[in-house]
Amino acid sequence: MTTFTHEQIQLLLDDNNVHDCEGIGRDKVCVRIEAIAELPTRFGDFHIVAFSNNRDDKEHVAIIKGEVFDAEDVPVRLHSKCLTGDVMGSLRCDCRDQLEAALKMIGQLDRGIVLYLRQEGRGIGLINKIRAYSLQDQGLDTVEANLALGFRDDERDYAIAAHMLMSMKINSIRLITNNPKKMEQLKEYGVKVVDRIPHIMEPNEHNRFYLETKAEKSGHMIDFRGKARLPEQSDGPIVKGMKDSLIKELYEE
Ligand SMILES: [Zn+2]
Ligand SMILES: [Zn+2]
Repeated sequence: MTTFTHEQIQLLLDDNNVHDCEGIGRDKVCVRIEAIAELPTRFGDFHIVAFSNNRDDKEHVAIIKGEVFDAEDVPVRLHSKCLTGDVMGSLRCDCRDQLEAALKMIGQLDRGIVLYLRQEGRGIGLINKIRAYSLQDQGLDTVEANLALGFRDDERDYAIAAHMLMSMKINSIRLITNNPKKMEQLKEYGVKVVDRIPHIMEPNEHNRFYLETKAEKSGHMIDFRGKARLPEQSDGPIVKGMKDSLIKELYEE
């Protein structure tokens, strides 16, 4: 395991225990670290950091590898929770592949962080996401389905992520993303983003359609069954071997 001492952890917890700020972002969200424990996984040895917040009862977590507290240039991946994909292995999206790729990458580095944000279905919540799936079953595409439910295309807000990094005293990060715009979003909340690390996945039987298909509206991809795969994480994946023209198409609006 990594080498945090109980004293280091206790210091951080004590700091957080008395933390109280005005909050960040449009919702003035403030988070606190509540608990930290070792988390050995099939992807490597991590610690898990559990956060509470002043807005709702969502328990956000950070999965951390190595010495990250008070560190510079820490590789960070943001992952939005997806019950259907992350847990059930749903093929309506590629969240699980993306999460596994991030954990695998960080598991092999000296240090890094996955912020696991409990904002299901682009922030619209599980029930609304399933409603959107259902509308999609009836022929609407994802964007249309979300709009029909009265939501914007993307309801997420990265203020929580920014505060979580601040709570852990991360001085600067290298963001693991294929979407340069995401760096700007975090910078707006005061995170020092020094670099971008491309997020690249190995091809497998579930994502090989990326290598052969064209991007559709809002970065949707059509799979072998003719179904649109939902881009539920905020930045589409790059699969090893994907054509440059397709990558460009996914990131140009
Ligand atoms: Zn705060
Ligand atoms: Zn998903």
